[in-house]
Amino acid sequence: MDTLLPPACLACDTPVPEDGLFCLACFRTAHFITAPYCLQCGVPLPAGGQRRCDVCTAGNPGFTTARAALFYDAMAQNLILPFKYGDRTEAAGGLARLMRRPGALMLAKADVLVPVPLHPSRLRARRYNQAALLAKALSRLSGRRCVPDALQRLRPTAPLARMGLAARQAEMQGAIAARPGFAPMGAYVLLIDDVMTSGTTANACAAALRAAGAARVDVLTAARVADPRFE
Ligand SMILES: [Zn+2]
Ligand SMILES: [Zn+2]
Repeated sequence: MDTLLPPACLACDTPVPEDGLFCLACFRTAHFITAPYCLQCGVPLPAGGQRRCDVCTAGNPGFTTARAALFYDAMAQNLILPFKYGDRTEAAGGLARLMRRPGALMLAKADVLVPVPLHPSRLRARRYNQAALLAKALSRLSGRRCVPDALQRLRPTAPLARMGLAARQAEMQGAIAARPGFAPMGAYVLLIDDVMTSGTTANACAAALRAAGAARVDVLTAARVADPRFE
């Protein structure tokens, strides 16, 4: 494909030396998540403060830890929205490279990579599951096994973006289950998604994976909404 599509910056179309890189201008504006962040869910926290965010302190999430590469700011949206909705599937490889650093420990230890599922009706409309593309790209980079259809959406769910936390939880209740036959008994499962917001979807997926036998579920996403208190 390189002869047809020379490598371009992940966030704009400037040519770059190899796939999966930002051009210099975009690299300067890219907002990578660095410490301090919540040791559990990975949300950025103010310097010198608590080690876990208020949400994790109030009640353990269903997953063990979560990490992400980028803040979900305007620059990350430029990168992720075309990947998610605009058929820019070639961004998966580059995003996976960005996820490799925050996810290094997870990728070294996980038994299996599992993407957050789309409902079949949405998959038909969009033609691909962006989380599955990321999981497959991370599988190629890490050598970890990927099971793209391990989880299923049992019913379509409304977009969670404008809902409060209680409404999100109600919307996701019972919406996700492990596919019959997927039984990761005692396994360490790494859940993959493009963006983590409140963690409600990740929690629902983690609960389904644990119900199927997973011993540990971690979450690795390309981007993370910065403030958990926006709810
Ligand atoms: Zn660029
Ligand atoms: Zn947290």
